[in-house]
Amino acid sequence: MELDVLLHKEELTREDLAALLGLTDPKDRQKLYQAAYAVKLKYIGNVDHYRGLLEFSNRCIKNCRYCGIRRDNMEAVRFDTPREEILEMAQWAYEQRYGSLTLQSGERQDPEFIDYVEGLLREIKKIGKGTLGITLCVGEQTEATYRRWFEAGAHRYLLRIETSNPMLYARLHPRDGHHEWTVRRDCLKALKRIGYQVGTGDMIGLPGQTLEDLADDILFYREMGIDMIGMGPYVVHHNTPIGKEVMAAGGDCPEARQRRFILGLNMIAVTRLFLKDVNIASTTALQALNPLGRELGLLAGANILMPIVTLPRFRPQYLLYDGKPCVEDTPDQCKNCLASRVASVGDRVGFGEWGDSPHYFASHPKE
Ligand code: SAM
Ligand code: SF4
Repeated sequence: MELDVLLHKEELTREDLAALLGLTDPKDRQKLYQAAYAVKLKYIGNVDHYRGLLEFSNRCIKNCRYCGIRRDNMEAVRFDTPREEILEMAQWAYEQRYGSLTLQSGERQDPEFIDYVEGLLREIKKIGKGTLGITLCVGEQTEATYRRWFEAGAHRYLLRIETSNPMLYARLHPRDGHHEWTVRRDCLKALKRIGYQVGTGDMIGLPGQTLEDLADDILFYREMGIDMIGMGPYVVHHNTPIGKEVMAAGGDCPEARQRRFILGLNMIAVTRLFLKDVNIASTTALQALNPLGRELGLLAGANILMPIVTLPRFRPQYLLYDGKPCVEDTPDQCKNCLASRVASVGDRVGFGEWGDSPHYFASHPKE
């Protein structure tokens, strides 16, 4: 089908989604990104919102086969950010008028961690009299835990499905009974039941992943009624099982990285075209593969940026993949750098606003 017809079709099919995701010609891709940006302007506007990203601990009980802070990576020096410093950085983010904070860490499910996060949320809620929005991204938990944290003040939760294909998921995770695709999907259902704004996403360009798998990921977002999408290209970490496999097969050469980068932009654009009113993040992984990655993500339809507010001394220990950007920077540098990136594409930052997903309020009308 003609690209122009496809871009203006009322309802895209799975085949249409896969065809758009597979575009490689620069002129065709430009048309796709322009169409997606027009949808962003219509449903969101030319305003982007910040979620200050505080990576507060890299301790993890999981062993995802792609991740640089997996339990068995003995190269990773483990850290916990002291509580007072987390609160200081939350205060800092509030004073910079970031609007929202995302607390992210490796996964732990022990009672001590659950209590700790709950206490932290209650303290952060006191900052600015509850005006700092809080997103949590700390993995799979029981419904009761998610509920406690919701009641303590978290109102958004990000848990990537990583891939909607259970067979591919099984290849990416150890078969030890603790990494089950159905458990992850059920966590997303529990989060929705509780009333969180729910975010998920995938890794793009994984070994063995097809365009149809990616089209299915977008269909999965719709089927699950997802409000926010945080997805990005897969990037190799040298000391992980998947990273080693990819490197051995020559899959980390510049051409392969460029392919994953383009696929990452195409995913943002096609997701924007299809889902319209969700929040979509332009993630750091895009920038790991291209210095202008995050700007190009905004122009392809993304509307959320996550400036890193992790303390500089811990950044080198939160290495999910090789070449992670901003590791040498301070929170102040990240703030100024992102503001100029937003301005360079003609958007503006919604400082001091939560920037909630319009999709959430379409299904949860405001009182
Ligand atoms: N532990 C929590 C979890 O897994 O949901 C939150 C932190 S985890 C580091 C956040 C995300 O990092 C994961 O959902 C995964 O998609 C992403 N990630 C891990 N390794 C990656 C890699 N090599 N390339 C790109 N993204 C990666
Ligand atoms: Fe742990 Fe998350 Fe990395 Fe998996 S992706 S190893 S759960 S930090």
